[in-house]
Amino acid sequence: MNDTPTLTLYNSLTRQKETFTPQDPSRVTMYNCGPTVYSYAHIGNARAAVVADVLFRVLRHIYGQEAVVYARNITDVDDRIIQSAKETGKPISEITEKYAKIYNDDLAAIGCLPPTYQPKATEHISHMIEMISKLMEDGFAYASDDHVFFDVSTYDDYGKLSGNTLDALRGGDRVGEGEVARKKNSADFVLWKPELDGVGWDAPFGRGRPGWHIECSAMAKATLGEVIDIHCGGVDLKFPHHENEIAQSCCANGHEKFANYWVHNEFLNMAKADGSSEKMSKSLGNVTLVHDLLKEWDGEVIRLALLKAHYRSELNWSEDLLKESKAQLDGWYRKKADYFRVKSLGAGSNVPTYLDELLDELNIPLLLAGLDNVSEYIETLYTANSEGGISNEQMSENEDWNIFVDLDFMIKRANLLGFLQKDPEVWRKGGLDYDVLVEEYDSVRAQAIAAKEAGDKAKMGEMFKRSDEIRDQVAAEGIVIESGPDGKSTWRKA
Ligand code: AMP
Ligand code: ZN
Repeated sequence: MNDTPTLTLYNSLTRQKETFTPQDPSRVTMYNCGPTVYSYAHIGNARAAVVADVLFRVLRHIYGQEAVVYARNITDVDDRIIQSAKETGKPISEITEKYAKIYNDDLAAIGCLPPTYQPKATEHISHMIEMISKLMEDGFAYASDDHVFFDVSTYDDYGKLSGNTLDALRGGDRVGEGEVARKKNSADFVLWKPELDGVGWDAPFGRGRPGWHIECSAMAKATLGEVIDIHCGGVDLKFPHHENEIAQSCCANGHEKFANYWVHNEFLNMAKADGSSEKMSKSLGNVTLVHDLLKEWDGEVIRLALLKAHYRSELNWSEDLLKESKAQLDGWYRKKADYFRVKSLGAGSNVPTYLDELLDELNIPLLLAGLDNVSEYIETLYTANSEGGISNEQMSENEDWNIFVDLDFMIKRANLLGFLQKDPEVWRKGGLDYDVLVEEYDSVRAQAIAAKEAGDKAKMGEMFKRSDEIRDQVAAEGIVIESGPDGKSTWRKA
């Protein structure tokens, strides 16, 4: 594998940039903590998912599509889910299935590839019980008052990822007072809790439900193995969640490491009235939902906005960021239209696609700037002719088909990153395609006119009614139908 590109990643565990070396290049493993499915994902959550998606794409590019195994879990047992079931009177599975589907649909709309595995916590309870039993047997965990806790004093490396020493942690315990009384050390965390509102599973240490942290340790092991290559997530998960995943997995599996590389994305922030900004989070009540944004913006626009800042820098979310991204994509799509046109004239290119900027610690903004450079260069050619694109002369001017090679290079790289996936014509019309409805509109109007000429008033009324319905339906979605010559209409965004 001499010509394997070298990927460097900033490893949060060692706090330095390192060359990425997988344990087995034919099975590269990555894990990303997925959502707790009781409501919609916000755009901050989406940032974590999109960053992991870019890493997944880069790894697939380097090691081959089949060689990368990516697990992103679904947390479908949680106090907030139980609470929501109680409040709405709906079965838990109805709530979790609904929001898991919405989550997947929303992420697909912003260009995230489906992970290889999407384990659900409720399907891995036996693995959690197994892991907890092993931790208890080996003296890393203890039962107390219907709970099982991990004893942090048994694990010397506890605090290494987050930089928190045990002394510091003792002072900063965030668990309720009742629980503190049951624990040996205030930093001990819960592995198993008693059943709540009838939600529980039988276990040797009592009927109950898992703590959040053990879920990920068990699901990562079941899907990827005992030691994984890369673990991702937002910086807020470093402590306590990831710290606790490491402690459980290393002590239960008997390895020095749980994940060899830890990749943490920085926060997405929301502006405050006083001009400062703060992390987007449900608890602060300043969230913008991906689901709502998708009603107004194309998924690629949202994706580009999310990738504009380096993943290790904070990103300030705003409407302007979306507008900027939309304008950028409009320009890129114009090049894609030209690409098709010039290709149909017989242009070819063997340019290899590479993502070198991303090899250096996923420098996504640098790659995006590269796409802009090509796009802007091609834009300068447009001004030299009146055809609204690259002219045939301009294309044949250059013996090497350089302009086409540039276009090809730009578009393939954009595709790899999850952009320019649509037909340029569909994009121009606002990402929507109403062609089929407009065809039906023309057809029913033609039938109405024919019925009128034949004196069939009933049929005429019925057909005009249907054409009005189509017009109203698309109008409700912000689309205007415009009549054209020969009874052939077109549509555009109002
Ligand atoms: P949660 O549903 O809170 O467990 O979060 C799911 C993922 O989104 C985790 O990787 C979090 O670290 C990440 N996340 C949550 N809020 C933000 C934010 N404002 N900016 C970036 N990532 C976030
Ligand atoms: Zn996790």
